[in-house]
Amino acid sequence: MSQQGYVATPPYSQPQPGIGALSPPLRGHYGDPSHSAPPSGIMKPAGPLGPMPPVGALPPGPPNSGAHQFGQNGPNISGFPQQRFPGPPPVNNATPPYPPSSHLPPASYPNPVSSSATTQLGHQLGAMQIHNYGPGMASGSPGIPSPPSGASFQGPPQMPQPAILQPGPRMLPPPPSTHNGLGTGPTLPPASRQDGLPGSGPPTANFPSLPLPGQPPGPGYPPQQGANYGPPQMPGAPLTSPPGFPGGPAQMAGPMQPPKKLDPDSIPSPIQVIENDRSTRSGQVYATNIRGQVPPLVTTDCMIQDQGNASPRYIRCTTYCFPTTSDMAKQSQLPLAAIIKPFATVPPNEVPLYLVNHGESGPVRCNRCKAYMCPFMQFIEGGRKYQCGFCNCVNDVPPFYFQHLDHVGRRLDHYERPELSLGSYEYVATLDYCRNNKAPSPPAYIFMIDVSYSNVKNGLVRLICEELKTILENLPKEEQEETSAIRVGFVTYNKVLHFFNVKSNLAQPQMMVVTDVSEVFVPLLDGFLVNYQEAKAVIHNLLDQIPEIFADSNENETVFAPVVQAGMEALKAAECPGKLYIFHSSLPTAEAPGKLKNRDDRKLINTDKEKTLFQPQSNVYETLAKDCVASGCCVNLFLFPSQYVDVASVGLVTLQTGGTLYKYNSFQKHLDSMTFLNDLRNDVQKITGFDAIMRVRTSTGFRATQFFGAIYMNNTTDVEMAAMDCDKAVTVEFKHDDKLNEDTGALIQCAVLYTTISGQRRLRLHNIGLNCSSQLADLYKSCETDALINFFAKSAFMAVLTQPLKMVRDILVHQTAHMLACYRKNCASPSAISQLILPDAMKVFPVYMNSLLKNCVLLSKPEISMDERAYQRQLVLSMDVADTQLFFYPQLIPIHTMDVNSESLPAAIRCSEERLSEGGVFLLANGLRMFLWLGGSAPPELIQGIFNVPSFAHINTDVTSLPEVGSPYSQKLRLTINNIQQKKPYSMKLMIVKQREQPEVHFRQFLVEDKGLCGGASYVDFLCCVHKEICQLLS
Ligand SMILES: [Zn+2]
Repeated sequence: MSQQGYVATPPYSQPQPGIGALSPPLRGHYGDPSHSAPPSGIMKPAGPLGPMPPVGALPPGPPNSGAHQFGQNGPNISGFPQQRFPGPPPVNNATPPYPPSSHLPPASYPNPVSSSATTQLGHQLGAMQIHNYGPGMASGSPGIPSPPSGASFQGPPQMPQPAILQPGPRMLPPPPSTHNGLGTGPTLPPASRQDGLPGSGPPTANFPSLPLPGQPPGPGYPPQQGANYGPPQMPGAPLTSPPGFPGGPAQMAGPMQPPKKLDPDSIPSPIQVIENDRSTRSGQVYATNIRGQVPPLVTTDCMIQDQGNASPRYIRCTTYCFPTTSDMAKQSQLPLAAIIKPFATVPPNEVPLYLVNHGESGPVRCNRCKAYMCPFMQFIEGGRKYQCGFCNCVNDVPPFYFQHLDHVGRRLDHYERPELSLGSYEYVATLDYCRNNKAPSPPAYIFMIDVSYSNVKNGLVRLICEELKTILENLPKEEQEETSAIRVGFVTYNKVLHFFNVKSNLAQPQMMVVTDVSEVFVPLLDGFLVNYQEAKAVIHNLLDQIPEIFADSNENETVFAPVVQAGMEALKAAECPGKLYIFHSSLPTAEAPGKLKNRDDRKLINTDKEKTLFQPQSNVYETLAKDCVASGCCVNLFLFPSQYVDVASVGLVTLQTGGTLYKYNSFQKHLDSMTFLNDLRNDVQKITGFDAIMRVRTSTGFRATQFFGAIYMNNTTDVEMAAMDCDKAVTVEFKHDDKLNEDTGALIQCAVLYTTISGQRRLRLHNIGLNCSSQLADLYKSCETDALINFFAKSAFMAVLTQPLKMVRDILVHQTAHMLACYRKNCASPSAISQLILPDAMKVFPVYMNSLLKNCVLLSKPEISMDERAYQRQLVLSMDVADTQLFFYPQLIPIHTMDVNSESLPAAIRCSEERLSEGGVFLLANGLRMFLWLGGSAPPELIQGIFNVPSFAHINTDVTSLPEVGSPYSQKLRLTINNIQQKKPYSMKLMIVKQREQPEVHFRQFLVEDKGLCGGASYVDFLCCVHKEICQLLS
């Protein structure tokens, strides 16, 4: 199969306004090797090949929408029995539920509330005081929603309130820990310069006061030479010159008073923020009809109704109000980013995406910028033309698409067409959107099992083969189809590869061995990839035999890159996209391409070379990843290491092909089987788009500049993914290239071209409109802290490839201080400088940021395994907002006080040791791990109820699941665990931890408000440090 002719270019081949003039791609600065240089290997051509989609020259036809069907995904793809989809009924409304964007009024606000709410919050936050700020700002309560104003609309953004921490004499800035990202600074102010980087001035007093609004940054912000960790990464901050962390302990004594402990109850609580949002917005319908509306938090359950903007399940933003100018953006240093999860699963009570089919005409697109028809297109001239909301080009309406307008200028078929009235929908793609203009084949899954000695010995090979029999019965399929269209194939390997012929007419499977791993080839085509149902008998025979064939193998050495290569070649030969499932356990040391050596060199930690440990040690892996993406081959990797396997190298192929990395350290069958098998089952069944390419278009004035995720980029605009599953999110950063217009707002359209599990080529569209404002206060009140943390985590984790870790940490701290100082200076009412004033929407930002700084990826500590750091880095890079929220602020639930009769989840508490109690039992989950912590004097009846043993001493902690005791406690706890688990992409291994026993340290590292065990400041300490830096910025 020739890949030459393929480019997903028809949809993307035209230059986008604003893109053409784009100066050299900024991406390369940050050192993702995949993003920097054009590939030298075999790649999809970047140029516009293939015909243009037939937008301009459409066959005339009657304006009959009947020929252009749409239906819900699923059984009704072509039939479309539903004449109307449940859009907002155009009744009782003089104005449409969402007027054309150019006429959108700014979001209205609910009635100002109530001193009681203020009092309440004041009470909650102890020493924090809530002040009004800014002239004309009504006093409102954070998290208090408007009374629902109608069935289809509720919960407009609340009037935010700054949180003001008035430390007064109690304010104690304890010296920052010297073990964390902050702390290394104070003791060694110019430390980053000691890394051999150009100096940038004295360690103190380098922060001139913030520029006034509208002014460019002053001359006190020289570009930092040699530091490429520039603006696209961490907007604003990097261009300024972060000296060493300003102010050591000595300086902190300056405006501050002598030590007195700050009451943790007086600083903003993430739990309180989560609970406030829940109490006001949970269980309600959130309609997306208002541009720039801030959605409920990721931790709040509610039903979402698409009324013209993509659901927050698909797109969340760091702020829903963009500054009108780039100067404002630089001044605030708030990153402008969207976290897009195109294949997010929606709960059963929400409407799945509609599928629009324009037949051979294909999707309607703007002639100039190629944006797809969407609610942001404005129909004019009686419906004969439409103006593109993205580039303003006036296009003719194709004859087949013509429709008359009503008295408000809206098409009469507005509510009958998803692409006119919804934020998200799908198009059936025409052949122009397919490789070689040929309809794609359904994908194939290839299972590749490492059968070296250790995997056989620990029972893993047998476990996998047994499980595959079940898994293959449940291969994903289209709803309306009886059997899965996915074909399957099998390979085993150690230092050679074994292919299996499992053709249905064979009596026995046949094995073919490939010993030449230097240039691996696929020894058979016919009989390698088969339909499971047809070849079931032969496949089961094979799965029974594999453990026996290799039972006596003494082979310790493995190859890895040739395995990936073989899988990719097989998919290529079969002309189909697909996924490899590789079950691997050791460092590939056998003589072959991609051979690796053990480089787990702890001496490099905390040196300028530390970043190399995050990079692959051989460029074989980068080339392989490129080739895989070009062939639509996604690599899922299940690692079972008992020692160093070099995750940074072997994981790269997974990361860049949109795959998922799973890691089970020192796998023990009796402890880890459940976690592994759950992961495998979930992964095989995930909703996935194959051979995907994503393009983000924007309205004029700004553009997407940076992309983070499990992605591959061959140019600056097309995000390629061999596959993209329902849990993968891409974080996109935007920059201004002109002024934005407050009336028209900032519009974003994300288009993903992909192949379904049954081999249908489709386009998935997500559109969202954001507000624009020339008032900084509007930016801050439309922020989403959880999205901000997602952005900062991903940009920092990309930056570790190229920048010294200390610099990455410093930039995070400086940018935190800058964002908050800018708010303080420009948006808050004047107050004593000793007050810490935080914007309401960001009041818990510091606790999350501190947790990010303490994450093992950013902590330079030799005691943390490099593989673990590379693994967590990779995982976070593809996480969505809900996943990073939980990852950086774990859920800690008291079990001993839970109401066993209530259906709801017990309320969480803050992640700090002082919230635990000797007499309690607590559950902690962060999305990867789960702990049940048992206080030393937990009540015996509770222990009996959960473990069915008489006392604390009898509890066996060497288990990873809880017994089914049948008591209410047991049932409720197991239900709680399941509830938490269900929402998360990774199966969380449960660890039982007793108070004051050694394994407790594993648990304690997740108490993120406390000082880190391996370094890292406590929340209180961090807040004081940030406050001090803010004071310096303002003085
Ligand atoms: Zn356009």
